Amino acid sequence: HFSTIYAITPTHTRPEQKADLTRLSYALRFVRNFHWILIEDSEEKTELVMKFLSKSHLNYTHLSIPTPEEYKMKSRDPNWLKPRGVLQRNLGLNWIRQNLKPDEHRGVVYFMDDDNTYDIEIFEEMRNTKKVSVWPVALVGDLRYESPVVVRGKVNGWFTFWKPERPFAMDMAGFAVNLDVIFSNPDAWFSLQVQRGYQESSILTSLGVKMQDLEPKAQNCTKILVWHTRTEKTKLKNEELMRRSYGRGSN
Ligand code: UDP
Ligand code: MN
Repeated sequence: HFSTIYAITPTHTRPEQKADLTRLSYALRFVRNFHWILIEDSEEKTELVMKFLSKSHLNYTHLSIPTPEEYKMKSRDPNWLKPRGVLQRNLGLNWIRQNLKPDEHRGVVYFMDDDNTYDIEIFEEMRNTKKVSVWPVALVGDLRYESPVVVRGKVNGWFTFWKPERPFAMDMAGFAVNLDVIFSNPDAWFSLQVQRGYQESSILTSLGVKMQDLEPKAQNCTKILVWHTRTEKTKLKNEELMRRSYGRGSN
């Protein structure tokens, strides 16, 4: 009986969204026993994402929940000002707790962003996670990579410049959690109140995880299999003029 990877991905509407989702979905097509929970940051599911998923060839669940107005990123906000994807990840967790059964489903939960880059090897690395598995993430924290520090097979700290004093000083893309841990800690949720950079520490702490529980993967955290890539925002300054002279939209 194989363990399934349940990936929880928040996604939001922007010009680059479909490009990011397309690229990601083509990697995910190679992953067996994979279930994608894609949660839109919006009041309603959009037709764009609905159509995209229906032709994706993936197992998926499509949900939506909007980030409250006071927490929404404005386009001129620096990206770190507001927490991103919080309510969406919680809705994904809630779906898992409501729809999967501890005695029926074996698997691993992974919080994936829609613009990162994933080597498909990482999914086989995480598939047999007992409690929480960890690995390096590249292109993050103003470093070529951040990584758990592994000594004699155990994690004993963080190769991280930014706030290394955090209980779990790693990126969301750098760990996966066994389903049982999600079920046995039903009150563990992400929070909009958490200070900057503490989302990962907050969820792992509330899941009852200790540093000594962490299982280093990717050859004892020496291989890069995940990149925190970010898609450049396309300037659309010619759009409006073009629309006015041609009298049509761009979709
Ligand atoms: N996201 C969201 N709503 C937003 C901004 C971001 O749901 O208003 C999602 C986004 O699509 C991504 C995740 O939250 O899957 C992390 O956001 P982002 O990639 O912008 O974060 P960063 O790369 O800066 O860490
Ligand atoms: Mn990102």
